Amino acid sequence: MIYLYNAHIYHNAKFDAQLSGLLIDKDRIVKLCFNNDKVSHNWEKINLNGAYVYPGFIDAHTHCFSGGLYLSGIDLSECTSIKEVLEHISNSLKNNQQYIFAWRFDEEKIAEKRFPNRQELNSVCPDRPLLLRRIDGHSCVLNSKARAIIPGLKSSNEILIAEDNDRAVNWLQDNLSEAEIIEAYKNAAQAALKGGFTTVHTMIGDAQMSNQHYKLVRDHLNEFPVSFELYPQSFNIRDALELGAKRIGGCILADGSIGSHTAAMTLPYKDKNTRGILYHNDEFWQEFVAQAHKEHLQVAVHCIGDAAIHQINSAYATQDREEVKELRDELIHCEVTPDSLIQEIAKSGAVAVMQPAFDLLWGGNSGLYSERLGDRYKIMNRFQSLSRQGISICSSSDWYVTDMNIAMSLYALIHHHNPQEKLEPIEAIKSYTENNSWLNHTEDSLGIIEEGYIADLSVMDTDFTKLFDWNKVRTLLIIKDGNIVYDDR
Ligand SMILES: [Zn+2]
Ligand SMILES: [Zn+2]
Repeated sequence: MIYLYNAHIYHNAKFDAQLSGLLIDKDRIVKLCFNNDKVSHNWEKINLNGAYVYPGFIDAHTHCFSGGLYLSGIDLSECTSIKEVLEHISNSLKNNQQYIFAWRFDEEKIAEKRFPNRQELNSVCPDRPLLLRRIDGHSCVLNSKARAIIPGLKSSNEILIAEDNDRAVNWLQDNLSEAEIIEAYKNAAQAALKGGFTTVHTMIGDAQMSNQHYKLVRDHLNEFPVSFELYPQSFNIRDALELGAKRIGGCILADGSIGSHTAAMTLPYKDKNTRGILYHNDEFWQEFVAQAHKEHLQVAVHCIGDAAIHQINSAYATQDREEVKELRDELIHCEVTPDSLIQEIAKSGAVAVMQPAFDLLWGGNSGLYSERLGDRYKIMNRFQSLSRQGISICSSSDWYVTDMNIAMSLYALIHHHNPQEKLEPIEAIKSYTENNSWLNHTEDSLGIIEEGYIADLSVMDTDFTKLFDWNKVRTLLIIKDGNIVYDDR
């Protein structure tokens, strides 16, 4: 038995001054210990020195393979000119990598406001395939080696979007060795722990018909220090059933992204004469959702613009509402939501799986969203409005797109650019614990600190119910299934 003591313990949505210890037996919390309770000398005692103990934080939507892979790749997020991008690539090349992944490129931060062209990429990486990916993942550019080796690219444009973007990314990622793939998930698990998480929902698949290395990772799940809740990111329902999955989808795309002008809007963008792209028609989605429901599979679909959210929500709405609610079908991202669309979502029974950090990074009247969409930035990432209409809010990083960092994510929810869309701290914490556990149908055993619940705990140095500086927050200890899996005290 492990006895954690001298701690602030988050229980019933508050820190109870009388509750200062927890007793853990194997993988379960067996006793909440109050100040006057007797302590047995047989217990292994861990003094937490006044730290803050939360239910293990859960991230409801991540791309752990790409994220883990890119941790050994080249991060371009700090670059501010084409020259810097090229120098950074040149200085970061490692001999042992067969393919080079440069990621988190944001042309908005670059003085020239453009992507590097193929010749520029060739000048720093002539001998190996290199893929440079936009920060949101919805567009990329290749050097000549990559262009020559990747089959089936349709467009001759240097900037690849939509299908070509997916094809290029997936081809390189599909051709890695098993050891490189497992290594990527190990990197991802470490990033999750450091960010304060015990459980991470993640998808594996090419967002078309292939479930890629799903079996490999499923068979190695007990080797990782966090729980990866896997589901196939594909349209292949038969394979999903064979894999034993209970959920299907993820970033299977109804539309693209706002940064890439491909999120599907009912009205044109402000800075480009386009309404974005609906990748499939209504019938396609209705058929897919109906087929998945016939097999009792929970469905998750990427939809960002109001036209795409309307399309996917309408596909859910053609199903029995009680079934949508029971399965907990997901509108992933759910970013642009006028009031009328919020009413539609409330009626369908779908869940919004959203990304607090998107508002932190790109919201507000001078952010990317306002640049792309004008005043419509005000009706984006509406945590409070959706929640007020009874729609369940689940939160996530969409990592690799934004960091898995619980402090940043909670801060973003509590300090939304639009004051009307802020969540109270306890609601923000709930969205990353109880709600995300509920999304995975595990609410009876995970997501709160209670006797009989699984001993997944995130021990932080900060009280998130008070004002805090997210940059300074540290994860001190992570306990997973009753075991210490991360210790940075
Ligand atoms: Zn997505
Ligand atoms: Zn995603």
